[in-house]
Amino acid sequence: MSHTARDLAELLAGAEHAIVLTGAGVSTESGIPDFRSAGGLWEEYDPMEVASMATFMSNPERFWRFHRPRIDMLGSVEPNAAHHAIAELQRMGVVHELITQNIDRLHARAGSEGAIEVHGSLSHGRCLRCEHRVTLEELCALADAADDGVPRCEKCGFQLKSGVIMFGEPMPEAEINAAYLAADRADVVLVVGSSLQVAPVSGLPGLVIGRGGQLAILTESETPWDDRCSIRLHGRAGAVLTETVSFLQDGSSRD
Ligand code: NAD
Repeated sequence: MSHTARDLAELLAGAEHAIVLTGAGVSTESGIPDFRSAGGLWEEYDPMEVASMATFMSNPERFWRFHRPRIDMLGSVEPNAAHHAIAELQRMGVVHELITQNIDRLHARAGSEGAIEVHGSLSHGRCLRCEHRVTLEELCALADAADDGVPRCEKCGFQLKSGVIMFGEPMPEAEINAAYLAADRADVVLVVGSSLQVAPVSGLPGLVIGRGGQLAILTESETPWDDRCSIRLHGRAGAVLTETVSFLQDGSSRD
């Protein structure tokens, strides 16, 4: 069964502690391809090659040849209607916590405060050997100044990495704990634009449902949780969430 934005608005309006979990699909309308849809990033690149710790350690030039232009691409896009609607739901007090798998910072740029970034973010660079941190601007400047395109730590000389968590890298403990604590408090979790195939975030809906809470999913493609959700929406995130905000604000759709 397919639900409407009005159904979603009603579920959120009746929640005591609603949380939102977003994935790459919330940013596709900003022009950033997701990973698993047709035309997504992994059709073009092998993730285990370009986004892995193994490549970062053994072939940092290859690693940074992929990541340096990607930083510029991610910096050139703008938040879309879905990011703005989620920020509005937080301002309205309808959504209490936002958990994102995205590293693109678009939630923050749309006005969302305190998003729990479970896969790291592009906000900074760091040295894995001595823990020295640099801003994203410094990271890019070091990469651009290097003959081989590899930014290196000014303290110890080791190659720097961005704050994005790579395959084979430990997950950020504080953020994962915060995400699970948020899910433990939630009576409603709304998933937007995630295929729910990546652990440990894929376990969050089960935590909420297991405590008697409700799950709403808004994605274009199927997820493993579709038969366990109370609300299932298949539309585009920007339009559906904008309409949801409209229902919550004045009980009517603006289109
Ligand atoms: P995914 O690619 O596995 O799934 C994306 C989901 O979003 C799919 O179900 C797709 O149908 C849906 N979708 C795409 N466009 C949509 C739209 N406009 N409206 C509604 N739904 C839409 O992504 P995932 O579950 O986030 O997992 C993949 C990993 O990708 C995560 O680790 C994340 O860190 C990383 N990633 C992040 C970005 C980013 O920061 N923007 C981009 C690509 C990948």
